[in-house]
Amino acid sequence: MIGDGVGYNHILATNYYQGVPGQVQEKFPVKLAMAHYPGKAGEYEAGNPGSNYFATGYNPSLAWKDTAYLKRDFTESAAAATAIATGFKTYNNSIGMSLGHDSLENLVQWAKSIGKSAGVVTTVPFCHATPAGFVAHNLTRTNYSQIAAEMLLDSRCDVIMGCGDPMYDNDGLPVKGKWTHAKYVVDSAFWLQFIAGSGKSITFGVSGKTKTVRDTDGDKIPDPWTVIRNLEDFRALQKGKTPKRVLGCPKTGATIQQARTAMNGETKDSPPYTTPLVKTVPALSEMVGGALNVLDNNPKGFFMMIEGGATDWASHSNQQGRLIEEMNGFNESVETVVAWVERNSSWKETLLIVTGDHETGLLWGEQPFIPPTDNGKGSLPLMVFYSDNHSNSLIPFYAKGAGSELYRNFADECDSLRGPFIQNTEIAQLIHLLWFK
Ligand SMILES: [Zn+2]
Repeated sequence: MIGDGVGYNHILATNYYQGVPGQVQEKFPVKLAMAHYPGKAGEYEAGNPGSNYFATGYNPSLAWKDTAYLKRDFTESAAAATAIATGFKTYNNSIGMSLGHDSLENLVQWAKSIGKSAGVVTTVPFCHATPAGFVAHNLTRTNYSQIAAEMLLDSRCDVIMGCGDPMYDNDGLPVKGKWTHAKYVVDSAFWLQFIAGSGKSITFGVSGKTKTVRDTDGDKIPDPWTVIRNLEDFRALQKGKTPKRVLGCPKTGATIQQARTAMNGETKDSPPYTTPLVKTVPALSEMVGGALNVLDNNPKGFFMMIEGGATDWASHSNQQGRLIEEMNGFNESVETVVAWVERNSSWKETLLIVTGDHETGLLWGEQPFIPPTDNGKGSLPLMVFYSDNHSNSLIPFYAKGAGSELYRNFADECDSLRGPFIQNTEIAQLIHLLWFK
């Protein structure tokens, strides 16, 4: 589970607002810090190799001296997701590609290679950087259309859930006139075919070629996607019999709530829920509940990546209230997964990791390096964003269940404040050890 851009103070501020001592993941037996700097920082530009340059890592003594250090050489979501999903640090904007531009195998491919099921769920477009980093391979995260096509037509995922429906705007209302962002679903013509072929079609026309979807369960028969879009269908998916393979795409634009139109004079410093939530889209916890009910059909188990994506978007926009809303939604989905493990599985056979991919907004209190201040339950704490971009600040890593204690062996670097820390690449490295021992 990845809270995009979520650092220690995003969690602390939310606890203060909720008036709770901590979230369920903060009580997990394994609590470490995590570094996430990329192999190469900067921005990928086709034909301009200099646009990415070797990053300088994370130096604890410099990190607590000066915020300027933390504002340099930070990662972004594609390189971070690729590192977590493949075990290799790479260049910023890379989707599943190495520093040398070779395709890297990822956790979804490993899981499928040993007969497990696999899926990704997010609150932002399903082909966005983080979910794509666990499934697709592309030189840059901005090739949304190609990435969406690879995820739907070339991957062996059993579940993909996320936003990006070009037929709806960010308030969940039908788009009048021309669709503006069909790239998130390959293109307009493809999306119409895909919806119409729900549960049955296996071949689709894409950029002049006919492509066939993959076989997900090894019986050599291509498996069609069942497309779920309506709130009631997301809710129904949580119980009972499920389709074999599900694409869940709520009827909204880029994200389920964070980009909705501000009302009631809402500003970036307004308390959460100043603007009523969109009522026609599922919560992340409901998407997760449905995805779990599909993936747990496989007796050999599964791998699942769940992203709270808009925590990053709210932090980039320095939106205090909307950050808390997104954190509440993410924490709720952690509780949904914990309840699923305790009801349908056990911590002996399931590993749950809750972390982030980097920090966004350099969130602190009245001064940098002073934590947010509690203003009581239901009130925004004193929290200040000292940046509108990512930072190289260490982030929390929580783990529980099968193999979780082994991450302590990887925490061989130590920070003066956050203590022992792992590298983001070590998440996949241990899972590979556990799966292919
Ligand atoms: Zn990110």
